[in-house]
Amino acid sequence: MSRAASSLTSDVAVLGGGAAGLSLAHRLAEVSPSLSLTLVEAPDGPLRPPERTWCHWHHDGDDDGLGEAVVASWSRLRVHGADGRAVTVDPAPLSYRMIRSPAFERLVHARLADSPRARVLRATAQEVRDTAGGAEVRCATPDGGTLSLHARHVFDSRPPRVLPPARTHLLQHFRGWFVRTGAARFDPAVADLMDFRVPQPRHGLAFGYVLPLAADRALVEYTEFSRAPLATEAYEAALDRYCRDVLGLGTVTVEAAEQGVIPMTDGRFARRAGRSVFRIGTAGGATRPATGYTFAAVQRQSRAVAAALRAGRAEVPPPHGRRSLAMDAVLLRALDTGRVDGPAFFTDLFRRVPAERLLRFLDGGTSLWEEFGVGLRTPVGPMLRTTLELPFLPRRPPSAPSTGGSHR
Ligand SMILES: Cc1cc2nc3c(=O)[nH]c(=O)nc-3n(C[C@H](O)[C@H](O)[C@H](O)COP(=O)(O)OP(=O)(O)OC[C@H]3O[C@@H](n4cnc5c(N)ncnc54)[C@H](O)[C@@H]3O)c2cc1C
Repeated sequence: MSRAASSLTSDVAVLGGGAAGLSLAHRLAEVSPSLSLTLVEAPDGPLRPPERTWCHWHHDGDDDGLGEAVVASWSRLRVHGADGRAVTVDPAPLSYRMIRSPAFERLVHARLADSPRARVLRATAQEVRDTAGGAEVRCATPDGGTLSLHARHVFDSRPPRVLPPARTHLLQHFRGWFVRTGAARFDPAVADLMDFRVPQPRHGLAFGYVLPLAADRALVEYTEFSRAPLATEAYEAALDRYCRDVLGLGTVTVEAAEQGVIPMTDGRFARRAGRSVFRIGTAGGATRPATGYTFAAVQRQSRAVAAALRAGRAEVPPPHGRRSLAMDAVLLRALDTGRVDGPAFFTDLFRRVPAERLLRFLDGGTSLWEEFGVGLRTPVGPMLRTTLELPFLPRRPPSAPSTGGSHR
């Protein structure tokens, strides 16, 4: 039997408590504590994604208030080419750091609990519609009731049901093991970002990824950029081979696993879903098409949204610049057509472009001139041909429904 409907009001409603929702709520509580804020988090069940790790580049001098949630960071990065040769780079003043979702959630919840005008609402957001003074979010509560949340501004991070039409639809899909080894096997100062010493699929590319957490513990992942995810057994087999034959880890204990699918598409994600309703996170195009990285863009965007609201404006700046998206569209198409050799492409970039510049490039923080320089270190002919062809290609809907960004 359903309960009577009740209602709540708030200046700001944030829908979804994942990377984007938590980040925005965190910034709003910090920057605009005078605004009342409701963070709507799905109750336990199928809408709540399993625990995840979010890694991103971080400028060592920048105190972004997330330190408590950082479980590891690396000052050196390594890429192994398919030929077995490694390149190790030091991207100072940037480092690569890992945040685990439960720690991040605890940090944000603690901040919201300290903020008299913020609340976390456990409910499933359903319809969202514009109203005279803002928007109404119809929610289902865990006790079977309904609730109507009225807010002046709504920021919706619920994963998109369908991805926008695009010229290229690839997926970054992976499974990772948190392993423990019998002896010290890892260097905790070095993260292996891409290790191409794995068999390559017929379409797309594959690599290993190793984030050491201690000398005998690491997150080891097998990742593909291709058109369709694998069955779990196929990831397990690939991980087993990688740990044994490439990393030589001997017997490992798998303590936990994470698996995911991240869309890599040049589709255009709308950032507005109504007069007072904005999309944020992957749903609003925050996932960088050619890398799948999202967390850093979400941090930038959250700061900008919080600063604008404090100044009395509701706006969501684009998560990535036009040039970054245009370059990613070319690379995605070049990879999808097989015109460029993925492992050679990425390995050469790390070998030939200074690390700090390359990471800024991947984060959309380089100048036009620097990007031109990076472009010259890619296979110019195939990239140019792809650039010329792109404007004539139709944007098509994806052949499979959206994965919603993550699943186990
Ligand atoms: C396993 C995995 C690892 C990743 N690692 C990285 C990484 O290292 N670095 C990086 O930059 N990116 C990474 N990504 C990509 C990206 O950062 C994540 O997908 C990120 O979680 C996207 O943030 P989001 O807020 O858009 O979506 P999510 O984090 O998925 O958040 C969406 C939220 O909406 C909630 N929700 C859904 N429906 C409803 C509803 N009806 N009502 C209320 N709430 C609802 C969900 O419970 C969820 O909390 C990873 C992705 C996966 C899947």
